Amino acid sequence: MTNAILVLNAGSSSLKFAIYGDGDGALDVLLRGKISGIGSNPVFSAKDADGLAMSGKDLPPMDLETGQDDLIPELLDWVNAHQGGVTIKAVGHRVVHGGRHHAEPALITDALLAELESLSPLAPMHQPHNLAAIRCVAASIPGLTQVACFDTSFHRTQDRLAQLFALPRALSDEGIIRYGFHGLSYDYIASTLPAYLGDKANGRVIVAHLGSGASMCAMKNRRSVATSMGFTALDGLVMGRRCGTLDPGVILYLLQEKGLSATDISTMLYKESGLLGVSGISNDMAVLEADTSAQAQEAIDLFCHRATSELAALASTIGGLDALVFTAGIGENSARIRRQICDRLCWMGVAIDPDANDGHATRISGPSSDIDVLVIPTNEEVVVARATRALTQTGAGSD
Ligand code: ADP
Repeated sequence: MTNAILVLNAGSSSLKFAIYGDGDGALDVLLRGKISGIGSNPVFSAKDADGLAMSGKDLPPMDLETGQDDLIPELLDWVNAHQGGVTIKAVGHRVVHGGRHHAEPALITDALLAELESLSPLAPMHQPHNLAAIRCVAASIPGLTQVACFDTSFHRTQDRLAQLFALPRALSDEGIIRYGFHGLSYDYIASTLPAYLGDKANGRVIVAHLGSGASMCAMKNRRSVATSMGFTALDGLVMGRRCGTLDPGVILYLLQEKGLSATDISTMLYKESGLLGVSGISNDMAVLEADTSAQAQEAIDLFCHRATSELAALASTIGGLDALVFTAGIGENSARIRRQICDRLCWMGVAIDPDANDGHATRISGPSSDIDVLVIPTNEEVVVARATRALTQTGAGSD
């Protein structure tokens, strides 16, 4: 019997999962997959340990009504039936918001769940789904060890100034601060940097996590110094559907002059803005790249313009730049976006090798570049699996 760790990343319309065999040595991925289209047309896809897509007959049937609450029991049943010889010993969850006190992953208890519940308004698109998945697992397999790994934890190394808004002090004291997100991805990239950069890994590095959600993190000594996302995951870069940085006066104007409700504005900022809002076509970068309309191209140009502005601001927090890393769906796959961003950074000494970039090489900077530019695929699941194993072995919860 192989002991295994199940990693869950539950979103509003998708559930990503991975199973890691927990032997004596490294964690081996046995299976990874995704259920997308939850609530509309659920589709299950999975790849085996060799990265081969599993065929239809190996996959569980899902009817159109399969909702969030049914999925996890179905997934657990399917794992039991199809992963012969594997026993799930613990489940690790990606949890978007850990608030200001959780700088490390934590064992899930009723008290922790209640605390994390109180943070849902700060991440309304993610946190409720993360917590629902925890409850579903607890209901399906009572007593199973569960661990929460927070996207905010990686940024708790930041100085106070990097976390502070220029708001009245009492608000900062009650927790209205810049938390930052995508920490599991940054943690993974930070762990890989020495293999690519040697001693430079501990220098001045910016990681650009460019996916449906997008942010950047400035690191020194592979620790977060500053990041583009703030109190919520709305801040910073242009995203698929989210607006990124916005003059707060716009929100006041929408409330006071246009008569929009707080709910209307929330929907607009989280779901109808970003690439989708500017293009009026799609939130998907690949779709926009294939679309020659002026609106699609303007959305892409704005994405790159804002990315370079943010990057330059972050570079100033670490006193310059030794290396730039692109990761996540857009960062790993779009040569055009990488080129457009790097071309705007030539004044900093960034020079990419067009062939390496088009070929999605790991190192895309050219020989004349003062700054190493890398493309490194992220792996948030393995960060969760490692932390879950560590906490399960020690049995000790953290703060
Ligand atoms: P998430 O995990 O937040 O759903 P991803 O990291 O998977 O997001 O990134 C999704 C984004 O990556 C989408 O905008 C998608 O269009 C983009 N993307 C993926 N492949 C490509 C590609 N070949 N060219 C351009 N964009 C791509």
